[in-house]
Amino acid sequence: MSYVDEVIARVKEKNPGQPEFHQTIDEVLESLRPVIERDEEKYRKMALLERLTEPERQIKFRVPWIDDNGQVQVNCGYRVQFNSAIGPYKGGLRFHPSVNIGILKFLGFEQIFKNSLTGLPIGGGKGGSDFDPKGKSDMEVMRFCQSFMTELFRHVGADTDVPAGDIGVGGREIGYMYGQYKRLTNKYESVLTGKGLSYGGSLARTQATGYGLLYFTRALLKLNGIDIAGKTCIVSGSGNVAIYAIEKAYQMGAKPVTCSDSNGWVYDPEGIDLEALKEIKEVNRARLTEYKNYRPNAEYHEGRGVWTVKADIALPCATQNELDLDDAKALVANGVIAVCEGANMPSTLEATKYLQGNKVVFGPAKAANAGGVATSALEMSQNAERLSWTFEEVDEKLCGIMENIVANIDAAAKEYGMDGDYVAGANIAGFKKVLDAMEAQGIV
Ligand code: NDP
Repeated sequence: MSYVDEVIARVKEKNPGQPEFHQTIDEVLESLRPVIERDEEKYRKMALLERLTEPERQIKFRVPWIDDNGQVQVNCGYRVQFNSAIGPYKGGLRFHPSVNIGILKFLGFEQIFKNSLTGLPIGGGKGGSDFDPKGKSDMEVMRFCQSFMTELFRHVGADTDVPAGDIGVGGREIGYMYGQYKRLTNKYESVLTGKGLSYGGSLARTQATGYGLLYFTRALLKLNGIDIAGKTCIVSGSGNVAIYAIEKAYQMGAKPVTCSDSNGWVYDPEGIDLEALKEIKEVNRARLTEYKNYRPNAEYHEGRGVWTVKADIALPCATQNELDLDDAKALVANGVIAVCEGANMPSTLEATKYLQGNKVVFGPAKAANAGGVATSALEMSQNAERLSWTFEEVDEKLCGIMENIVANIDAAAKEYGMDGDYVAGANIAGFKKVLDAMEAQGIV
């Protein structure tokens, strides 16, 4: 059996009941096969893949907090510190009822390669809780965040591990966690990114993942001789990534016509009303059913369905495995040109293969959504030099980073004879730097 196959089998056996983690292991190790097989015996001897697929550290802890009725509630908190070969662990915190160790391992593993692709010195990690901020009062969210940080603070630090936001963790949650960290440690340091502008945050961090996705998509299309201007986009999600993807799509002359939340989706043939969407989601924290109050001619549908709308470009920006094989078939039947992933692993393996097999330009998450973490690293740099850069400076750096990623994943795919396979290109390009650092640092 080849070394790659051996490790895939062993990881699945050792980590039962973690389907999302198995899925990313399949995807990443499959595409690293040509790199590994060039020197298989050496890598087997140094147990390179075993070390790569085993987190350096996993922390699980109890998070007790008191709700507004005086009832004690208990949630689980986690931090997976996956790989620090090229820098301190970096990756978001997710607060969502679906959070478990398998999902965080999938996200942390992906993060290693994504962070490497940015070209910045950051390792891979991920964390969060099964706490659901939806429907909670601000005071409940604050008490939860304080309790969460009362344990997490022991394990993080500006040179150790620097978490950021993710699903369910935005500016409010980061603020409460930062306040508690400072109180516990008496240190005003860059332990979290995504901070507010008044206490060390970076301009353009809020927009970074969505904007970065569009910089990436524009560059990838250009590489394939296509202009993004005038194209119709279908977007899923209506959170941080989706909103700023929609904003930048408009700025590039494209027309986004859909968005969604976990209850339903909107189709607005005239183009999504961005101001209305921001008010519903960022100000009122309400559901998309409200959208029709702003735009009576738009359609609202319960359930899933975004991928059935005819469009040129699809941008999944909600969550993992939200685009399956049937969705991929619908996209291809409707003549989609490109799918670029704003969410983490939104396409199933079957969907990805089908899209690539049907000549759809496919931009994988770890490359396409790396703008968020890249700008987080820029926030760390600004904190370290105690300076704040302008919005334009940060945005220009972000655009440069995303265009570089496109060039690097294209080059890596070509080097290994897989021209146009940007999934393989992203995995290989991200892996090489980590591999180099791991080899240099010995068996640790
Ligand atoms: P938000 O919490 O701001 O928004 C998430 C959106 O996705 C909401 O519209 C939410 O709907 C929807 N959603 C979440 N879970 C589900 C589900 N199980 N089924 C259907 N819809 C769902 O998160 P972000 O926008 O920050 O993150 C979106 C994706 O992008 C995630 O995969 C995240 O890991 C990834 N990402 C985010 C980065 C960032 O900087 N924020 C960086 C890189 C990747 P509802 O409100 O109804 O729950």
